[in-house]
Amino acid sequence: MKITMIGSGYVGLVSGACFSEFGHIVTCVDKDAGKIARLNEGEIPIFEPGLDKLVAENVADGRLSFTTDLAGPVGDADAVFIAVGTPARRGDGHADLSYVYAAAEEIGRALKGYTCVVTKSTVPVGTGAEVAAILRKTRPDLTESAADGDGYDVVSNPEFLREGSAIEDFMRPDRVVIGAPSERAREMMRRMYRPLSLIETPLLFTDRQTSEMIKYAANTFLATKITFINEVADLCEKAGADVHDVAKGIGLDRRIGPKFLHPGPGYGGSCFPKDTLALVKTAQDFDAPLRIVETVVDINDKRKRAMADRVAAACGGDLKGKTVAVLGLTFKPNTDDMRESPSLDILPALIAKGAVVRAFDPEGMAEAKHMIDGVAHWAADAYDAATGADCLVIVTEWNQFRALQLDRLKEIMNQPLMVDLRNVYTPDDMAAAGFDYHCVGRPRTAA
Ligand code: NAD
Repeated sequence: MKITMIGSGYVGLVSGACFSEFGHIVTCVDKDAGKIARLNEGEIPIFEPGLDKLVAENVADGRLSFTTDLAGPVGDADAVFIAVGTPARRGDGHADLSYVYAAAEEIGRALKGYTCVVTKSTVPVGTGAEVAAILRKTRPDLTESAADGDGYDVVSNPEFLREGSAIEDFMRPDRVVIGAPSERAREMMRRMYRPLSLIETPLLFTDRQTSEMIKYAANTFLATKITFINEVADLCEKAGADVHDVAKGIGLDRRIGPKFLHPGPGYGGSCFPKDTLALVKTAQDFDAPLRIVETVVDINDKRKRAMADRVAAACGGDLKGKTVAVLGLTFKPNTDDMRESPSLDILPALIAKGAVVRAFDPEGMAEAKHMIDGVAHWAADAYDAATGADCLVIVTEWNQFRALQLDRLKEIMNQPLMVDLRNVYTPDDMAAAGFDYHCVGRPRTAA
């Protein structure tokens, strides 16, 4: 099949490369000419493990290509995916659908034959109907959901991949959700995802608005689970309980499950913050407020900001003139994505409290430098960051921070003090290593 992907970012590029790996002929389109030029030179504009190899192989085999020209590949395609950004709209928090609608108009003008126009971007309920309305207006000559002949169907197929493990998530998803208005579109989508039938991936067919709702319900549920364990962690700290054992104890209950029960500095990233907010707004518009999600959004915002207070408390209450080393800036490991990362709240708050911040991240620093002002030193590695520090703070649990040489840290730091916002280390080990160690939701150990 011929697939055209509109938007070659984290989702479009990964999905496009994976569809080409399935054997389809894929063209990835982006209006960012610089991004397309880099891709055509064999350079991957984002950091995602395994993506460079996957792209290179499929380009070499002639199944994957990149262009800024939308019209040609859309006219040729059996399916056109919209994978453009849907950020929070400035001011009110609704999803900004201007990129989706602009893409729909361009696609409409270029349609030829029969085409499935598939929304992969995360879009609020009703967006598919709006895309269909745009296509009807742009192309009154074409029939919507025609049983045969030329025309188009508008399909919802939300994406559930996670940055950092995006290829595996796309290739081995828990399920594929498809909201399709006709049997012809359903059959097209079945053919597209047929390689997944070998591993018995469930394809859930439903209507468009339900499919759109599933994506938001999934993300807000996960964000709620994280927020729940974060609050339980705070309670554990006060009550002298260990949140990890609590998480294990409840997670072994299959009705709850063990995932997303790891406490930390609050969720971030390109999806959860904007998607929770967008669903809150949608629910308010329908006069069916989601008060749980409203609370989750509020708690999480406050939590990210409060992390600097934890660091200050660990340093004796005052950060003025103290040197703080921060390890990890991206919202999670194995990505260079800095969008809505907790570090964007934590570092400015540390600096505002008078701390001298030395920061290091394995992949996120190029982006972080544009987003965070006032960092005293962008370090070359964890030890460079820790040199002369009064306190070391782990914000993101990159693998390379999981087995730091504690003796070496003790030698180069002013004092052996660590605030571990990801609970990478254990209180007992850190006490044995002579560290004053502060973590999340586990009783504190002083050396
Ligand atoms: P992104 O910002 O990385 O990529 C979007 C790309 O679309 C950009 O390169 C932009 O230049 C391009 N673009 C915008 N308008 C265009 C147009 N008219 N024609 C061609 N290109 C255009 O965004 P992303 O992280 O890939 O997210 C895309 C969508 O997928 C969002 O709705 C997001 O919520 C959703 N999503 C993201 C993830 C994730 O982990 N990043 C996971 C699941 C779903």
